[in-house]
Amino acid sequence: DWPVHGRIEGAVVIIGYGSIGRGTLPLIQRHFDFDADRLMVIEPDPAAVADLAARGIPHMPIGLTRGNYRQVLGDLFADGKGFCVNLSVDTSSLDIMRLCREMGVLYIDTVVEPWTGFYFETPDNEARTNYALRQKVRDEKAAHPGGTTAVSCCGANPGMVSWFVKEALLQLAADCGQAIEAPRDGQGWAMLMRDLGVKGVHVAERDTQARAVPRPRGVFVNTWSVEGFIAEGFQPAELGWGTHETWFPDNAYRHATGCQSAIWIERPGAITRVHSWCPTPGPQFGFLVTHNEAISISDYYTIGDAAAPEYRPTCHYAYHPCDDAVLSLHEMFGSGRVQHAHHILGPDEIVEGIDELGVLLYGHAKNALWYGSRLSNAEARTLAPDQNATGLQVTSAVLAGMVWALENPRAGIVETDEMDHARCLEVQRPYLGPVEAHYTDWTPLQDRWELFPEDIDESDPWLFRNVLAT
Ligand code: NAD
Repeated sequence: DWPVHGRIEGAVVIIGYGSIGRGTLPLIQRHFDFDADRLMVIEPDPAAVADLAARGIPHMPIGLTRGNYRQVLGDLFADGKGFCVNLSVDTSSLDIMRLCREMGVLYIDTVVEPWTGFYFETPDNEARTNYALRQKVRDEKAAHPGGTTAVSCCGANPGMVSWFVKEALLQLAADCGQAIEAPRDGQGWAMLMRDLGVKGVHVAERDTQARAVPRPRGVFVNTWSVEGFIAEGFQPAELGWGTHETWFPDNAYRHATGCQSAIWIERPGAITRVHSWCPTPGPQFGFLVTHNEAISISDYYTIGDAAAPEYRPTCHYAYHPCDDAVLSLHEMFGSGRVQHAHHILGPDEIVEGIDELGVLLYGHAKNALWYGSRLSNAEARTLAPDQNATGLQVTSAVLAGMVWALENPRAGIVETDEMDHARCLEVQRPYLGPVEAHYTDWTPLQDRWELFPEDIDESDPWLFRNVLAT
Protein backbone atom coordinates (compact mmCIF):
# COMPACT_ATOMS: atom_id res chain seq x y z
CA ASP A 1 0.00 0.00 0.00
CA TRP A 2 3.00 2.30 0.11
CA PRO A 3 2.94 5.15 -2.43
CA VAL A 4 5.54 5.41 -5.17
CA HIS A 5 6.52 9.07 -5.14
CA GLY A 6 8.34 9.31 -8.44
CA ARG A 7 10.86 7.92 -10.87
CA ILE A 8 14.61 8.41 -10.58
CA GLU A 9 16.27 8.32 -14.01
CA GLY A 10 19.87 7.13 -14.04
CA ALA A 11 21.99 5.80 -11.21
CA VAL A 12 21.03 5.70 -7.54
CA VAL A 13 24.27 5.84 -5.56
CA ILE A 14 24.29 5.52 -1.78
CA ILE A 15 27.54 6.51 -0.08
CA GLY A 16 27.87 4.74 3.27
CA TYR A 17 26.02 1.66 4.49
CA GLY A 18 26.00 2.35 8.23
CA SER A 19 22.94 2.67 10.44
CA ILE A 20 21.39 5.35 8.21
CA GLY A 21 22.37 3.94 4.80
CA ARG A 22 21.03 0.52 5.78
CA GLY A 23 17.69 2.04 6.81
CA THR A 24 17.40 4.39 3.84
CA LEU A 25 17.86 1.78 1.11
CA PRO A 26 14.58 -0.09 1.81
CA LEU A 27 12.68 3.22 1.81
CA ILE A 28 14.20 4.14 -1.57
CA GLN A 29 13.23 0.73 -2.91
CA ARG A 30 9.71 1.07 -1.52
CA HIS A 31 8.96 4.62 -2.65
CA PHE A 32 10.78 5.20 -5.95
CA ASP A 33 10.69 3.68 -9.35
CA PHE A 34 14.26 3.28 -10.68
CA ASP A 35 16.36 0.79 -12.62
CA ALA A 36 17.50 -1.77 -10.06
CA ASP A 37 20.67 -2.43 -12.05
CA ARG A 38 21.68 1.21 -11.62
CA LEU A 39 21.80 0.94 -7.81
CA MET A 40 25.25 1.15 -6.22
CA VAL A 41 26.37 1.36 -2.58
CA ILE A 42 29.88 2.65 -1.84
CA GLU A 43 31.14 1.32 1.49
CA PRO A 44 34.64 0.45 2.76
CA ASP A 45 33.96 -1.32 6.07
CA PRO A 46 34.55 -5.09 5.75
CA ALA A 47 31.62 -6.09 7.99
CA ALA A 48 29.21 -3.82 6.10
CA VAL A 49 30.62 -5.09 2.79
CA ALA A 50 29.98 -8.70 3.88
CA ASP A 51 26.41 -7.76 4.74
CA LEU A 52 25.91 -6.09 1.35
CA ALA A 53 27.29 -9.18 -0.38
CA ALA A 54 25.06 -11.51 1.65
CA ARG A 55 22.02 -9.45 0.69
CA GLY A 56 23.01 -9.33 -2.98
CA ILE A 57 23.12 -5.53 -3.01
CA PRO A 58 25.43 -4.06 -5.72
CA HIS A 59 28.34 -2.35 -4.00
CA MET A 60 31.89 -1.06 -4.33
CA PRO A 61 34.06 -2.05 -1.34
CA ILE A 62 35.97 1.23 -1.23
CA GLY A 63 35.98 4.49 0.66
CA LEU A 64 35.61 7.76 -1.22
CA THR A 65 38.64 10.01 -0.81
CA ARG A 66 39.79 13.39 -2.04
CA GLY A 67 41.84 11.45 -4.57
CA ASN A 68 39.19 9.14 -6.03
CA TYR A 69 35.75 10.70 -5.65
CA ARG A 70 35.71 12.46 -9.03
CA GLN A 71 36.69 9.31 -10.85
CA VAL A 72 34.35 6.96 -8.96
CA LEU A 73 31.26 9.18 -9.05
CA GLY A 74 32.08 10.44 -12.54
CA ASP A 75 31.96 6.86 -13.84
CA LEU A 76 28.78 5.94 -11.96
CA PHE A 77 26.98 9.05 -13.21
CA ALA A 78 28.57 9.08 -16.68
CA ASP A 79 25.20 9.80 -18.35
CA GLY A 80 24.67 12.88 -16.15
CA LYS A 81 21.51 11.50 -14.53
CA GLY A 82 20.63 10.09 -11.16
CA PHE A 83 20.61 10.69 -7.44
CA CYS A 84 23.59 10.71 -5.07
CA VAL A 85 22.57 9.94 -1.47
CA ASN A 86 25.46 10.71 0.85
CA LEU A 87 25.06 8.90 4.19
CA SER A 88 28.70 8.35 5.09
CA VAL A 89 31.17 9.79 7.53
CA ASP A 90 34.57 11.20 6.49
CA THR A 91 33.56 12.34 2.98
CA SER A 92 33.26 16.00 2.00
CA SER A 93 29.63 16.97 1.48
CA LEU A 94 30.74 20.17 -0.22
CA ASP A 95 33.08 18.54 -2.74
CA ILE A 96 30.62 15.77 -3.60
CA MET A 97 27.70 18.20 -3.85
CA ARG A 98 29.73 20.42 -6.17
CA LEU A 99 30.62 17.51 -8.43
CA CYS A 100 27.01 16.29 -8.56
CA ARG A 101 25.79 19.76 -9.54
CA GLU A 102 28.45 19.98 -12.25
CA MET A 103 27.16 16.68 -13.65
CA GLY A 104 23.45 17.54 -13.28
CA VAL A 105 22.92 14.81 -10.67
CA LEU A 106 20.59 15.34 -7.70
CA TYR A 107 22.28 15.24 -4.30
CA ILE A 108 21.23 14.89 -0.66
CA ASP A 109 23.04 14.49 2.68
CA THR A 110 22.18 14.66 6.39
CA VAL A 111 25.12 16.67 7.69
CA VAL A 112 27.86 18.93 6.28
CA GLU A 113 30.55 16.29 6.58
CA PRO A 114 34.25 17.06 5.96
CA TRP A 115 36.96 14.77 4.59
CA THR A 116 38.60 12.52 7.17
CA GLY A 117 40.93 14.22 9.63
CA PHE A 118 38.98 17.47 10.04
CA TYR A 119 37.46 16.75 13.45
CA PHE A 120 40.60 15.77 15.31
CA GLU A 121 43.41 17.35 13.29
CA THR A 122 42.12 20.93 13.02
CA PRO A 123 43.83 22.69 15.93
CA ASP A 124 41.87 25.95 15.65
CA ASN A 125 38.56 25.63 17.47
CA GLU A 126 36.75 28.24 15.40
CA ALA A 127 37.78 26.46 12.21
CA ARG A 128 36.39 23.23 13.70
CA THR A 129 32.87 24.58 14.20
CA ASN A 130 29.75 23.61 12.31
CA TYR A 131 29.44 27.30 11.57
CA ALA A 132 32.61 27.09 9.49
CA LEU A 133 31.43 23.91 7.74
CA ARG A 134 27.98 25.32 6.99
CA GLN A 135 29.22 28.72 5.87
CA LYS A 136 31.26 27.12 3.09
CA VAL A 137 28.08 25.53 1.73
CA ARG A 138 26.24 28.86 2.01
CA ASP A 139 29.11 30.57 0.20
CA GLU A 140 28.92 27.97 -2.57
CA LYS A 141 25.19 28.65 -2.87
CA ALA A 142 25.81 32.40 -3.07
CA ALA A 143 28.59 31.99 -5.63
CA HIS A 144 26.58 29.55 -7.77
CA PRO A 145 22.88 30.26 -7.29
CA GLY A 146 20.24 28.00 -8.82
CA GLY A 147 21.12 24.95 -10.87
CA THR A 148 20.69 21.30 -10.03
CA THR A 149 19.14 20.68 -6.63
CA ALA A 150 21.42 19.65 -3.77
CA VAL A 151 19.68 19.23 -0.41
CA SER A 152 22.01 19.95 2.49
CA CYS A 153 21.45 18.45 5.94
CA CYS A 154 18.17 16.62 5.48
CA GLY A 155 18.02 14.10 8.32
CA ALA A 156 16.00 14.31 11.53
CA ASN A 157 18.15 17.06 13.01
CA PRO A 158 19.41 18.81 11.08
CA GLY A 159 16.43 18.34 8.79
CA MET A 160 12.93 17.40 9.95
CA VAL A 161 13.12 19.68 13.00
CA SER A 162 13.15 22.72 10.67
CA TRP A 163 9.81 21.51 9.28
CA PHE A 164 8.56 21.05 12.85
CA VAL A 165 9.45 24.66 13.70
CA LYS A 166 7.07 25.82 10.98
CA GLU A 167 4.30 23.45 12.05
CA ALA A 168 4.77 24.59 15.65
CA LEU A 169 4.53 28.26 14.63
CA LEU A 170 1.25 27.61 12.79
CA GLN A 171 -0.08 25.67 15.77
CA LEU A 172 0.96 28.41 18.19
CA ALA A 173 -0.64 31.09 16.02
CA ALA A 174 -3.90 29.12 15.89
CA ASP A 175 -3.84 28.51 19.65
CA CYS A 176 -3.26 32.24 20.21
CA GLY A 177 -6.42 32.91 18.22
CA GLN A 178 -4.69 34.25 15.12
CA ALA A 179 -6.17 33.24 11.79
CA ILE A 180 -3.16 33.25 9.49
CA GLU A 181 -2.06 31.72 6.23
CA ALA A 182 1.26 29.91 6.08
CA PRO A 183 3.91 32.50 5.13
CA ARG A 184 5.33 32.24 1.61
CA ASP A 185 8.97 33.06 2.23
CA GLY A 186 11.66 33.16 4.89
CA GLN A 187 11.03 36.74 5.93
CA GLY A 188 7.35 35.94 6.32
CA TRP A 189 8.18 33.04 8.62
CA ALA A 190 10.64 35.16 10.58
CA MET A 191 8.03 37.88 11.07
CA LEU A 192 5.52 35.29 12.24
CA MET A 193 8.00 33.94 14.79
CA ARG A 194 8.84 37.45 15.97
CA ASP A 195 5.20 38.56 16.15
CA LEU A 196 4.31 35.49 18.21
CA GLY A 197 6.97 36.55 20.70
CA VAL A 198 9.14 33.45 20.33
CA LYS A 199 12.52 34.10 21.95
CA GLY A 200 14.15 30.87 21.01
CA VAL A 201 14.04 27.20 20.11
CA HIS A 202 15.52 24.15 21.79
CA VAL A 203 15.86 21.12 19.58
CA ALA A 204 14.75 19.07 22.57
CA GLU A 205 15.34 15.34 22.40
CA ARG A 206 15.05 12.45 24.84
CA ASP A 207 16.02 9.02 23.63
CA THR A 208 14.86 6.30 26.06
CA GLN A 209 15.70 3.29 23.88
CA ALA A 210 17.42 0.58 25.89
CA ARG A 211 18.45 -3.04 25.59
CA ALA A 212 18.14 -5.76 28.21
CA VAL A 213 21.82 -6.06 29.12
CA PRO A 214 23.86 -3.34 30.83
CA ARG A 215 26.46 -1.42 28.80
CA PRO A 216 29.80 -3.21 29.02
CA ARG A 217 32.59 -0.94 30.28
CA GLY A 218 34.85 0.28 27.47
CA VAL A 219 32.18 0.20 24.75
CA PHE A 220 30.64 3.39 23.32
CA VAL A 221 26.97 2.57 22.78
CA ASN A 222 24.59 4.79 20.82
CA THR A 223 21.42 4.59 18.72
CA TRP A 224 23.07 6.05 15.59
CA SER A 225 26.64 6.66 14.36
CA VAL A 226 29.09 6.37 17.26
CA GLU A 227 31.79 7.90 15.09
CA GLY A 228 29.54 10.79 14.11
CA PHE A 229 28.47 11.44 17.70
CA ILE A 230 32.02 11.41 19.05
CA ALA A 231 33.16 13.75 16.29
CA GLU A 232 30.43 16.31 16.92
CA GLY A 233 30.67 15.84 20.68
CA PHE A 234 34.28 16.99 20.61
CA GLN A 235 33.50 20.04 18.47
CA PRO A 236 32.96 23.28 20.41
CA ALA A 237 29.44 23.85 21.76
CA GLU A 238 27.58 26.19 19.40
CA LEU A 239 24.28 27.97 19.36
CA GLY A 240 22.29 30.46 17.36
CA TRP A 241 22.41 33.67 19.37
CA GLY A 242 19.14 35.54 19.78
CA THR A 243 18.40 39.24 20.12
CA HIS A 244 16.74 38.79 23.54
CA GLU A 245 20.03 37.69 25.17
CA THR A 246 21.44 40.25 27.63
CA TRP A 247 24.51 38.34 28.80
CA PHE A 248 27.44 36.77 26.96
CA PRO A 249 29.40 33.76 28.24
CA ASP A 250 33.01 34.58 29.17
CA ASN A 251 34.33 31.70 27.09
CA ALA A 252 32.20 32.34 23.98
CA TYR A 253 33.10 33.90 20.64
CA ARG A 254 31.27 35.49 17.74
CA HIS A 255 32.21 35.07 14.07
CA ALA A 256 33.49 38.03 12.08
CA THR A 257 32.31 36.76 8.68
CA GLY A 258 29.36 34.89 7.20
CA CYS A 259 25.77 34.93 8.42
CA GLN A 260 26.86 35.69 11.99
CA SER A 261 23.80 33.97 13.47
CA ALA A 262 25.74 31.81 15.92
CA ILE A 263 28.38 31.86 18.63
CA TRP A 264 30.72 29.11 19.78
CA ILE A 265 31.91 28.20 23.26
CA GLU A 266 35.45 27.14 24.10
CA ARG A 267 34.31 23.76 25.43
CA PRO A 268 33.24 20.45 23.88
CA GLY A 269 29.49 20.33 23.29
CA ALA A 270 29.00 16.85 24.72
CA ILE A 271 30.10 17.94 28.21
CA THR A 272 28.19 21.22 28.13
CA ARG A 273 24.77 20.78 29.76
CA VAL A 274 21.61 22.82 29.37
CA HIS A 275 18.28 22.80 31.17
CA SER A 276 15.52 21.75 28.81
CA TRP A 277 12.18 19.99 28.61
CA CYS A 278 10.59 17.06 26.78
CA PRO A 279 7.12 15.55 27.29
CA THR A 280 8.21 12.19 28.76
CA PRO A 281 10.77 13.30 31.38
CA GLY A 282 9.55 16.88 31.84
CA PRO A 283 12.57 18.95 32.92
CA GLN A 284 15.89 17.37 31.98
CA PHE A 285 19.51 18.04 31.22
CA GLY A 286 20.46 17.98 27.57
CA PHE A 287 23.89 18.29 26.00
CA LEU A 288 24.64 21.41 23.98
CA VAL A 289 26.09 19.41 21.11
CA THR A 290 26.78 21.57 18.08
CA HIS A 291 24.40 21.01 15.18
CA ASN A 292 23.88 22.62 11.81
CA GLU A 293 20.22 23.40 12.56
CA ALA A 294 21.10 25.62 15.53
CA ILE A 295 22.89 27.89 13.09
CA SER A 296 20.53 27.57 10.12
CA ILE A 297 17.33 28.16 12.11
CA SER A 298 18.73 31.28 13.78
CA ASP A 299 19.89 32.47 10.38
CA TYR A 300 16.60 31.73 8.59
CA TYR A 301 14.50 33.54 11.20
CA THR A 302 16.72 36.64 11.34
CA ILE A 303 15.14 40.01 10.55
CA GLY A 304 17.45 42.87 9.66
CA ASP A 305 21.19 43.18 9.36
CA ALA A 306 23.25 40.01 9.93
CA ALA A 307 25.67 41.72 12.32
CA ALA A 308 23.07 43.80 14.20
CA PRO A 309 19.67 42.18 13.62
CA GLU A 310 16.32 43.55 14.73
CA TYR A 311 15.16 40.05 15.59
CA ARG A 312 16.80 36.66 15.83
CA PRO A 313 15.86 33.63 17.93
CA THR A 314 18.35 31.75 20.07
CA CYS A 315 18.50 28.14 18.89
CA HIS A 316 20.39 25.10 20.08
CA TYR A 317 20.33 21.39 20.54
CA ALA A 318 19.43 20.03 23.98
CA TYR A 319 20.18 16.34 23.51
CA HIS A 320 19.65 13.61 26.04
CA PRO A 321 20.87 10.57 24.11
CA CYS A 322 19.99 7.03 25.21
CA ASP A 323 21.18 6.22 28.72
CA ASP A 324 23.96 3.95 27.44
CA ALA A 325 25.30 6.86 25.37
CA VAL A 326 25.24 9.17 28.42
CA LEU A 327 27.35 6.61 30.30
CA SER A 328 29.62 6.22 27.27
CA LEU A 329 30.24 9.99 27.15
CA HIS A 330 30.90 10.05 30.89
CA GLU A 331 33.46 7.29 30.54
CA MET A 332 35.09 8.83 27.46
CA PHE A 333 35.50 12.37 28.78
CA GLY A 334 36.43 11.11 32.26
CA SER A 335 39.20 8.86 30.99
CA GLY A 336 40.36 11.19 28.24
CA ARG A 337 40.27 8.20 25.88
CA VAL A 338 37.89 7.28 23.11
CA GLN A 339 36.66 3.71 23.50
CA HIS A 340 37.91 1.33 20.81
CA ALA A 341 34.74 -0.75 20.80
CA HIS A 342 31.65 0.90 19.31
CA HIS A 343 28.11 -0.41 19.19
CA ILE A 344 24.91 0.92 17.59
CA LEU A 345 21.77 -0.53 19.19
CA GLY A 346 19.86 -2.53 16.58
CA PRO A 347 16.07 -2.60 16.36
CA ASP A 348 15.88 -6.24 17.47
CA GLU A 349 17.97 -5.89 20.63
CA ILE A 350 16.17 -2.78 21.93
CA VAL A 351 13.56 -3.92 24.45
CA GLU A 352 11.93 -0.59 25.28
CA GLY A 353 11.93 3.11 24.61
CA ILE A 354 11.19 5.92 22.24
CA ASP A 355 13.08 8.67 20.51
CA GLU A 356 11.25 11.81 21.47
CA LEU A 357 12.58 14.48 19.12
CA GLY A 358 10.99 17.87 18.77
CA VAL A 359 11.34 21.62 18.95
CA LEU A 360 10.59 23.60 22.10
CA LEU A 361 9.51 27.11 21.11
CA TYR A 362 9.78 29.32 24.18
CA GLY A 363 9.29 32.80 25.55
CA HIS A 364 5.87 33.51 23.96
CA ALA A 365 2.43 34.21 25.42
CA LYS A 366 1.84 30.52 26.11
CA ASN A 367 5.32 30.09 27.63
CA ALA A 368 6.63 27.05 25.77
CA LEU A 369 5.40 24.60 23.14
CA TRP A 370 7.11 21.28 22.35
CA TYR A 371 6.23 19.89 18.93
CA GLY A 372 7.70 16.65 17.69
CA SER A 373 7.78 12.93 17.01
CA ARG A 374 7.51 10.37 19.83
CA LEU A 375 8.35 7.30 17.81
CA SER A 376 8.96 4.05 19.69
CA ASN A 377 11.34 1.36 18.53
CA ALA A 378 8.46 -1.12 18.73
CA GLU A 379 6.46 0.95 16.22
CA ALA A 380 9.49 1.66 14.02
CA ARG A 381 9.98 -2.10 13.60
CA THR A 382 6.47 -2.44 12.17
CA LEU A 383 7.03 0.39 9.68
CA ALA A 384 10.36 -0.33 8.01
CA PRO A 385 13.20 -2.87 8.22
CA ASP A 386 16.75 -2.53 9.53
CA GLN A 387 16.43 0.50 11.79
CA ASN A 388 15.53 1.67 15.26
CA ALA A 389 13.31 4.67 16.05
CA THR A 390 16.21 7.12 15.78
CA GLY A 391 17.18 5.76 12.39
CA LEU A 392 13.64 5.93 11.00
CA GLN A 393 13.26 9.59 11.96
CA VAL A 394 16.40 10.26 9.92
CA THR A 395 15.81 7.98 6.93
CA SER A 396 12.19 9.11 6.45
CA ALA A 397 13.49 12.70 6.31
CA VAL A 398 15.97 11.62 3.63
CA LEU A 399 13.04 10.07 1.75
CA ALA A 400 11.04 13.30 2.04
CA GLY A 401 14.02 15.37 0.89
CA MET A 402 14.53 13.10 -2.11
CA VAL A 403 10.87 13.42 -3.10
CA TRP A 404 11.08 17.21 -2.81
CA ALA A 405 14.29 17.28 -4.88
CA LEU A 406 12.70 15.17 -7.64
CA GLU A 407 9.74 17.54 -7.67
CA ASN A 408 12.05 20.60 -7.59
CA PRO A 409 15.11 19.50 -9.59
CA ARG A 410 16.44 23.02 -10.34
CA ALA A 411 16.26 24.62 -6.89
CA GLY A 412 20.03 24.89 -6.39
CA ILE A 413 21.57 24.28 -2.96
CA VAL A 414 18.92 24.28 -0.26
CA GLU A 415 18.65 23.66 3.45
CA THR A 416 15.51 22.17 4.95
CA ASP A 417 14.36 25.59 6.22
CA GLU A 418 14.11 26.58 2.55
CA MET A 419 11.97 23.63 1.43
CA ASP A 420 8.18 23.18 1.38
CA HIS A 421 7.75 21.87 4.91
CA ALA A 422 4.15 20.76 4.38
CA ARG A 423 5.03 18.59 1.37
CA CYS A 424 8.04 17.10 3.15
CA LEU A 425 6.07 16.25 6.29
CA GLU A 426 3.29 14.78 4.17
CA VAL A 427 5.80 12.28 2.78
CA GLN A 428 7.53 11.68 6.10
CA ARG A 429 4.67 11.56 8.56
CA PRO A 430 3.62 7.90 8.09
CA TYR A 431 7.00 7.00 9.61
CA LEU A 432 7.03 9.32 12.63
CA GLY A 433 4.68 7.62 15.09
CA PRO A 434 2.76 10.06 17.29
CA VAL A 435 3.50 13.66 16.23
CA GLU A 436 2.27 15.81 19.07
CA ALA A 437 2.14 19.35 20.44
CA HIS A 438 2.61 19.83 24.20
CA TYR A 439 2.45 23.11 26.08
CA THR A 440 4.30 23.41 29.38
CA ASP A 441 4.54 26.01 32.11
CA TRP A 442 8.10 24.89 32.87
CA THR A 443 10.89 27.45 32.60
CA PRO A 444 14.63 27.09 33.21
CA LEU A 445 14.19 28.90 36.53
CA GLN A 446 12.18 26.02 37.99
CA ASP A 447 13.65 23.11 39.90
CA ARG A 448 17.00 24.74 40.76
CA TRP A 449 19.10 23.72 43.74
CA GLU A 450 17.92 26.28 46.19
CA LEU A 451 20.71 25.87 48.72
CA PHE A 452 23.36 26.82 46.18
CA PRO A 453 23.49 30.32 44.72
CA GLU A 454 23.73 30.35 40.93
CA ASP A 455 24.67 32.88 38.29
CA ILE A 456 21.17 33.36 36.92
CA ASP A 457 18.97 36.31 35.96
CA GLU A 458 15.37 36.04 37.11
CA SER A 459 14.22 39.05 35.09
CA ASP A 460 13.67 36.78 32.06
CA PRO A 461 13.46 33.02 32.61
CA TRP A 462 14.39 32.26 29.00
CA LEU A 463 17.82 33.87 28.93
CA PHE A 464 20.57 31.49 27.86
CA ARG A 465 22.30 32.40 31.11
CA ASN A 466 19.55 30.48 32.92
CA VAL A 467 19.47 27.62 30.41
CA LEU A 468 23.19 26.88 30.60
CA ALA A 469 24.00 24.58 33.53
CA THR A 470 27.17 25.61 35.31
P1 NAD B 1 27.64 5.00 10.72
O1 NAD B 1 28.88 5.30 11.45
O2 NAD B 1 26.74 3.92 11.20
O3 NAD B 1 27.95 4.71 9.20
C1 NAD B 1 28.79 5.51 8.41
C2 NAD B 1 29.25 4.64 7.27
O4 NAD B 1 30.09 5.40 6.41
C3 NAD B 1 30.07 3.45 7.78
O5 NAD B 1 29.50 2.24 7.30
C4 NAD B 1 31.44 3.72 7.23
O6 NAD B 1 32.16 2.54 6.94
C5 NAD B 1 31.12 4.52 5.99
N1 NAD B 1 32.28 5.27 5.51
C6 NAD B 1 33.34 5.70 6.25
N2 NAD B 1 34.24 6.32 5.46
C7 NAD B 1 33.73 6.28 4.20
C8 NAD B 1 34.20 6.76 2.97
N3 NAD B 1 35.36 7.40 2.87
N4 NAD B 1 33.44 6.52 1.87
C9 NAD B 1 32.26 5.87 1.95
N5 NAD B 1 31.76 5.41 3.12
C10 NAD B 1 32.47 5.62 4.24
O7 NAD B 1 26.82 6.38 10.61
P2 NAD B 1 25.27 6.58 10.41
O8 NAD B 1 24.59 6.51 11.73
O9 NAD B 1 24.80 5.73 9.30
O10 NAD B 1 25.30 8.11 9.98
C11 NAD B 1 25.71 8.45 8.68
C12 NAD B 1 25.84 9.95 8.56
O11 NAD B 1 24.57 10.53 8.83
C13 NAD B 1 26.81 10.58 9.57
O12 NAD B 1 27.49 11.61 8.94
C14 NAD B 1 25.92 11.12 10.64
O13 NAD B 1 26.46 12.22 11.31
C15 NAD B 1 24.71 11.51 9.84
N6 NAD B 1 23.49 11.51 10.65
C16 NAD B 1 22.67 12.58 10.56
C17 NAD B 1 21.51 12.60 11.30
C18 NAD B 1 20.55 13.73 11.20
O14 NAD B 1 19.51 13.67 11.84
N7 NAD B 1 20.80 14.77 10.42
C19 NAD B 1 21.22 11.55 12.16
C20 NAD B 1 22.07 10.46 12.21
C21 NAD B 1 23.20 10.45 11.43
